[in-house]
Amino acid sequence: MLVVMGKAATPQMVAVVCDEIRQMGLTAHPIPGMQRMAIGVTGNKSQVDSDRLLTLPGVEDIIQVTQPYKLVSREWHAEDTVVQVGGVAVGGRNFVVMAGPCSVESREQSFRVAEAVSEAGVKIFRGGAFKPRTSPYSFQGLGHQGLEILAEVRERFGLLVVTEAVDTETLDAVAEYADIVQIGARNMQNYSLLKKAGRCKKAVLLKRGLSATLEEFLMAAEYILAEGNQRVILCERGVRTFADHTRNTLDLSAVPYVKRTSHLPIITDPSHATGRKDKVIPLSRASIAVGADGLLIEVHHDPSRALSDGPQAITPADLRQLMQELRALSAVLEREMA
Ligand code: PEP
Ligand code: MN
Repeated sequence: MLVVMGKAATPQMVAVVCDEIRQMGLTAHPIPGMQRMAIGVTGNKSQVDSDRLLTLPGVEDIIQVTQPYKLVSREWHAEDTVVQVGGVAVGGRNFVVMAGPCSVESREQSFRVAEAVSEAGVKIFRGGAFKPRTSPYSFQGLGHQGLEILAEVRERFGLLVVTEAVDTETLDAVAEYADIVQIGARNMQNYSLLKKAGRCKKAVLLKRGLSATLEEFLMAAEYILAEGNQRVILCERGVRTFADHTRNTLDLSAVPYVKRTSHLPIITDPSHATGRKDKVIPLSRASIAVGADGLLIEVHHDPSRALSDGPQAITPADLRQLMQELRALSAVLEREMA
């Protein structure tokens, strides 16, 4: 439920409404807007006695939020959320590319890719230090040493860093080093991890689960916002289908759906969605066209020697071409590229 305050409502009137909501055993979330203040109400198991609030001074209207998710819904927050990450804005008219290797493999490899990524005009470097691998015998990432390398990449190349937290044990360490904490597809419904990410002070990149519906995806984001972290960026990374020409199927239709039902920014990951480098550029073009707020792309200077996901890594030269194409498309689509 959303309590909409009148334009002339004073801060005292807002405080009285918040107090009343708390006295009803519920949680009040004041949401400042361009024109007026709104107060979101959560914690109710059944219909709230809205008359009790409607009669308070300054209250103009009460809106029932029809979706099962509240804080992430457009009904709750009509304007696009723009997530600020160290000088880069994700959401609104901005189109932001995050690129780098699947895994941080070594200092040399990370520096080499970071240099290329930065030269191509990318501001956010991706690279996994903790890797969720299908096989326990595959490279699992450099762990803490990988985080140290990412800190050096930030320092040396002036890049922001997005990296994955695979469990609650290592989330604090990841959050200390990362500018954006990634929650991977396999962990989209790891509720203790989501709650902990909701209490961390960093922006969160939440990837859609391999077989999650969009309602489940948005409910997962709700966990993070419900803990107080509003800086969430969603990521469509492909879902499992019967198709065998592609690793997963990039669900491009998720983008306009999510943009209509939620105020959060959504980017796509054509690398994990397709698993093949030749499909990354075409689906990146499609992503900006369909309204995505950015991309997460895997890049490697020597894909055949990559320790993970080599077949889907594009080269630095491919990335430069992609960035050029995206700049041309963004002009047509009225998007801003940093
Ligand atoms: C990744 O981005 O490195 C990754 C493992 O992706 P996903 O969780 O989408 O499989
Ligand atoms: Mn990968």
